[in-house]
Amino acid sequence: MDTDNSEITGINVPALSGMTITNLAEALKDEKPYRAKQIFSWIARGAQSFDEMTNLPRQFRKQLAEQFVIRKSRVTEKLEDRDGTVKLRLCLEDGAAIETVLLAAPGESNSDHSPEKPGQHNNGRLTACLSTQAGCPVGCVFCKTGSLGFLRNLEAAEITEQFLYLSDIAKKKEGRRISNIVVMGMGEPLLNLEALRAALDILCSKSGLNCSKRKVTVSTSGITRGILDMAENGPEAELALSLTSAREALRNRLMPGIQGNSLAQIKEALQVYQKKQGRRITLEIVLLGGINTGEEEASALAAYAAQLSTIINLIPWNPAEGLQFEGKNLREPEEREIETFRALLEQRGFAVTRRYRRGRSISGACGQLGAAGGNG
Ligand code: SAH
Ligand code: SF4
Repeated sequence: MDTDNSEITGINVPALSGMTITNLAEALKDEKPYRAKQIFSWIARGAQSFDEMTNLPRQFRKQLAEQFVIRKSRVTEKLEDRDGTVKLRLCLEDGAAIETVLLAAPGESNSDHSPEKPGQHNNGRLTACLSTQAGCPVGCVFCKTGSLGFLRNLEAAEITEQFLYLSDIAKKKEGRRISNIVVMGMGEPLLNLEALRAALDILCSKSGLNCSKRKVTVSTSGITRGILDMAENGPEAELALSLTSAREALRNRLMPGIQGNSLAQIKEALQVYQKKQGRRITLEIVLLGGINTGEEEASALAAYAAQLSTIINLIPWNPAEGLQFEGKNLREPEEREIETFRALLEQRGFAVTRRYRRGRSISGACGQLGAAGGNG
C-alpha cells in the first residue's frame, strides 16, 4: 500500500493544516518537543508533501504520511480576472465546494474612487478573502451564497487551507506575502466562531505565517451573541457589520435569517466590542438600486451610526444571476444614486468609503461566491 495518503480524500485523516503548535505537540507526544514547531513552520512555508520537510528524519516523515495529510481540500478550479483578482474553488473531503479569493489591490478608498490604472496596485495590499461556511443560513436576498442555502460549517483546517493555497499563488505571481485577511467569503463567520478563532490563531502565529491581527477584518450580518463572544474571547480583529439598512423592517426582509438579532441589540453588542477592543467599526451598506439608496435610508443610517465610532463602507451591489427581492429583479445602483447617498452621509459628517469592484468577470466580487453545492 502507498504510504503517502496526502492524495486521499473522503476519509477522515486528520489534516495538519488545522493544528496549532500545541495541537501538533499533543498529536506527536512521543516525539521530541521541537518537532511540532518544525512541522508547523514547514506548513506555513507552503510545504505540500512530507518529503519537503528535509530536517525531519526519513522514517518519521514516512510515519507522518501514514497518519496525517497536510492539506485536506483540493483546488478544482482557478479563475483569474483581468484586474488581477484570483478565485479558487476548493473541493472538500465530503464533496462540498467553497470559494476563496485573492485581491491584489486596495479594497476601498475614501479619497479616490476613479478606476485604477494598470499596475497601480503593485505595491498595495494583497488580501485573502476567506469563507467560513459552505453556503449560508442567513439567506440574504442580494447574496449569491445566501441563495444556496446552508450546507455546513467549515473546520479550522478548511479555513487555513484557503489562505495557504492563496499564499502559494501570491508568492508565485506577485513574489510577496498576503498582507490582509478579510473574512467576507461564503458564510456567516460568527456562526462558526470557534473554527474561525482556531484558524486565525494558526494564521497569526509568530512561529508560522505571522499575519497581523490588526490586518484581519471579520464581517458579520449581525450575530449579537457572536459579537459579544468576540469582544470577550477574541479574535482581536477589525469588525465590520453588514448593516444593509438601518430601517429594521426593510433589513429583516432583505436579510431574513437575521431576525432575532434586533438592530438595537446589535448596536449594544457593537458598543461592548468597541469598548473592549477600542476599534472603529465598519458599517457595510450593499447599495441595491432603488431599494436602500434614498434620503430616508441615509437619515436612518446616520441615526444608527451616531452612537458608534464608525466608518461607512458603500458596496454597490454586484449582480448575481436569479437574485430577486419580493418578485422583482435586483438592479445595480446607478452612479448618481451612489454618489447622492455618499453625499448625504458626508454632509452629516460621516467618513465614507466606497468599495472597488474587483473580480467581477470571474464572479469573485462580494456576494458573487456560490459553489457550495458543487462537486468540484
Ligand atoms: N456573512 C458575512 C460575510 C460575508 S458577506 C456578512 O454578511 O457580513 C461579505 C459582504 O458582502 C457583506 O457586507 C455583504 O453585505 C456583501 N454582499 C453580499 N452580496 C453582495 C452582492 N451581491 N454585491 C455586493 N455586496 C454583497
Ligand atoms: Fe450570508 Fe453574508 Fe451572504 Fe448574508 S451576505 S447570505 S450573511 S454570506
